[in-house]
Amino acid sequence: MLDHSDYYSDHKYCHECEAYVPYLMSLEHSYCAQCGSRVRLFSESDWEAFHAALKERRPKGGGRPRKRPAKGGGDDLKSTG
Ligand SMILES: [Zn+2]
Repeated sequence: MLDHSDYYSDHKYCHECEAYVPYLMSLEHSYCAQCGSRVRLFSESDWEAFHAALKERRPKGGGRPRKRPAKGGGDDLKSTG
């Protein structure tokens, strides 16, 4: 059985072949096993979709609420003496 996600883990995108291809991994980059060109993890469109998915995962406004300083003096500092 061919698992789709497993396919992508074993293949990278080659712009020369315009397809996901088996690749050879070197220290810094990966190269197409068919033509020797540099390959990428995703095609450009998939790469954009990947980033878009990452952004959507982030909670919207789920972080710390930013308190804006009150208008007209909200000083916490009290001068004593
Ligand atoms: Zn190639």
